[in-house]
Amino acid sequence: MRILITGGAGFIGSAVIRHIIKHTDDEVLNIDKLTYAGNLESLKEIEDSSRYQFKRVDICDAEDLESAFESFKPNLVMHLAAESHVDRSIDGPAEFINTNIVGTYTLLEVARKYWQGLNAEEKSAFRFHHISTDEVYGDLAGTTDLFTESTPYAPSSPYSASKASSDHLVRAWHRTYDFPVLITNCSNNYGPYHFPEKLIPLVILNALDGKELPIYGKGDQIRDWLYVEDHARALYKVVTEGVVGETYNIGGHNEKQNIEVVRSICKILDDLKPQTDNVSYESLIAFVKDRPGHDLRYAIDARKIESELGWTPEETFETGIRKTVKWYLNNLEWCRRVQDGSYQRERLGVSE
Ligand code: NAD
Repeated sequence: MRILITGGAGFIGSAVIRHIIKHTDDEVLNIDKLTYAGNLESLKEIEDSSRYQFKRVDICDAEDLESAFESFKPNLVMHLAAESHVDRSIDGPAEFINTNIVGTYTLLEVARKYWQGLNAEEKSAFRFHHISTDEVYGDLAGTTDLFTESTPYAPSSPYSASKASSDHLVRAWHRTYDFPVLITNCSNNYGPYHFPEKLIPLVILNALDGKELPIYGKGDQIRDWLYVEDHARALYKVVTEGVVGETYNIGGHNEKQNIEVVRSICKILDDLKPQTDNVSYESLIAFVKDRPGHDLRYAIDARKIESELGWTPEETFETGIRKTVKWYLNNLEWCRRVQDGSYQRERLGVSE
């Protein structure tokens, strides 16, 4: 198969491409604008494969997209390109509206026109897989409920509202044009090659530098953590075996409070790389002002993808977080290079 992947230089997209090149015979075209979050270094392991190519394209640019579709002739599209950081969406929503909504619309239209030109056999095999987030469902504060595929949308942040809009566009393109789409909504990912603005890599790197470990509010926000390589496997299963028009929720069955996550990282670092004075890294924890509009709890019911497609996560939080901490300890150079002077782990998204 020929798979066109948008956002393949990002955290999850690069994991998907590494998975496909290592474990299948498929060909991949990676389309990415290379924003601050996109790093081709995350693809070093597979960049020499004859089945992999890269094109620097902005998904808002219809002409460039058309020429990529015409030359690569994909059977499948996996759409991961997005602005993805909630704090940045609070400071500057415009890029989120542009890439996540206008960009998804532009890609849908280019892909639909390309699909209409295919022969009947190619047309029926074609799939457009839109990758989204559980944040579109809003906040589960004060309940023990789980997000299912039919939970109503109630996004809280500019980021999640832009992703909700893009999900609606994708569903409408199926209903209106019969365009063969699939949607997945997943929980918080973690693992190797995660840009250091997100909680887990930020805490690991700050701890190693002896800097404060900032906890928003009381740190009691609950997220369901999913190891990125488990997610990559799930996405490949959905795009190749999922039922057209369906949505699949993907989660790790790992509900943890943010403060628990940070304490786990500190314990692993105390074990693998103790501070010179042997004081636990937990001493660096600092409670800071909460994020405006912060959702308290997300949790995924992943029974549909398990029962219909036979996917379950392989990593528990305990095994996945240990692997992740070890990966960062062994790849500090990657972290320095991707930050590239433009982001120094400063606080974002305080809205003042
Ligand atoms: P990321 O920020 O690490 O990567 C996004 C990639 O998209 C980058 O390589 C960036 O250069 C590229 N990009 C941004 N704007 C673009 C544009 N206009 N044109 C082309 N490329 C552009 O994001 P991620 O964490 O890998 O997330 C991938 C997808 O998964 C996103 O759609 C996100 O909403 C979704 N998601 C992420 C998580 C998570 O925990 N990280 C959870 C649920 C859903």
